[in-house]
Amino acid sequence: MVISGGRANQPGSSGKVVKCAMHTRDLTIIGGGPTGLAAAFRAGMHEISARIIDTASQLGGQVMALYPEKKIYDVFGLPEIGGKELVHNLVKQALQFGAEVRLGESVHGLRFADDEQRIDVITDQGSYPTRSVLLAGGLGLITPRKHDAEGCDQLEGRGVYYSVRDPELFRGKKVVIVGGGDSALDWALHLRPIAARVTLVHRSPDFAGHASTLREVQQLADYGQIGLYTSTLLTAAHGNGHLEAVTLRNSQGVEHRLEAQALLPMIGFHVNLGPMERWGLEFEEKKIVVNSRMETSLPGVFAAGDIVTYPGKIKLIATGFAEAAIAVKSAVEYLRPGEKVTLKYSSVAGLPKTTQQLAAAVN
Ligand SMILES: Cc1cc2nc3c(=O)[nH]c(=O)nc-3n(C[C@H](O)[C@H](O)[C@H](O)COP(=O)(O)OP(=O)(O)OC[C@H]3O[C@@H](n4cnc5c(N)ncnc54)[C@H](O)[C@@H]3O)c2cc1C
Repeated sequence: MVISGGRANQPGSSGKVVKCAMHTRDLTIIGGGPTGLAAAFRAGMHEISARIIDTASQLGGQVMALYPEKKIYDVFGLPEIGGKELVHNLVKQALQFGAEVRLGESVHGLRFADDEQRIDVITDQGSYPTRSVLLAGGLGLITPRKHDAEGCDQLEGRGVYYSVRDPELFRGKKVVIVGGGDSALDWALHLRPIAARVTLVHRSPDFAGHASTLREVQQLADYGQIGLYTSTLLTAAHGNGHLEAVTLRNSQGVEHRLEAQALLPMIGFHVNLGPMERWGLEFEEKKIVVNSRMETSLPGVFAAGDIVTYPGKIKLIATGFAEAAIAVKSAVEYLRPGEKVTLKYSSVAGLPKTTQQLAAAVN
């Protein structure tokens, strides 16, 4: 899918789909999560052309895939913001300079031209010429772990869901959530006022989520406002075309059937760095090694965000933003050898050009 920048006004929106020839971009950003979006903005500030490629069908990375409805409290300057709202703002800020966005495409490889002036980014759908690359692939490809209980496969999307896109879908329904981590606990609390009934089922007596969230869930369970089954397994999902009930089995092997119109197995994710591990980059514990300029071991290839490692690295949205700014400046220095690349404050210099002028210049 190809979309032109500056038109995606909704979180993760694909905007207006347009045909677009494969122009050589100054920077191709692999990954449209918070780091990739921050990098697209910084590219615009440095007046270089950019392209984002993401395998997901929407921008926003982990935030949109894993916790779009959660509140985030540690993005500085935003004391409290919903995941979806943060992505909406990032997309608006990032695409104002006309960055090209390609969604639903997985990057499989990089091909370096002999003169080192060009890199081709190879996806499952094409080849994109670029002069430099920023790897912002985060955890890699993220897919929810599927539940193997009987009936879950057949009823997926028809009562069995692995993520919550719209909480309203659960209004007035009897919802069973399976899992013992933050996602399961948070969604139990979040859906309780919306659903007719929320039941949390966990295979162990111990939970892995935050202590305060767990306390809240336990208090609500004590008052009968959340159903809570520990040391209990989900063994089957039943329904004729749509989920109608689930079967649970306790540690004594006793089974019972519970009416349910929605089942949310929240039992973790598979993350897969995919082909990046075969690109000749230096890796340490499945993370790309970078130096303080966010350079990788390959010329013209930079990396930032959750995908990188260096001494003291922490995985936060805020650190991804900072690393994106450093990586893009390093990329500009790579693109303009011998030139002094100055960092202009936006509050002093303003935005470099209007959206329309830059968009026209890169397309
Ligand atoms: C449940 C949860 C809650 C969190 N809460 C917070 C919080 O409150 N505050 C905070 O600061 N951080 C939080 N984090 C961490 C935060 O989400 C990450 O630090 C941040 O998303 C990293 O951004 P990124 O852009 O580097 O990577 P990601 O968000 O992982 O984005 C990477 C993107 O790259 C794409 N991609 C990967 N490989 C390829 C490929 N080969 N081809 C094409 N596309 C590819 C992926 O599809 C993905 O969209 C949380 C994480 C989780 C899981």
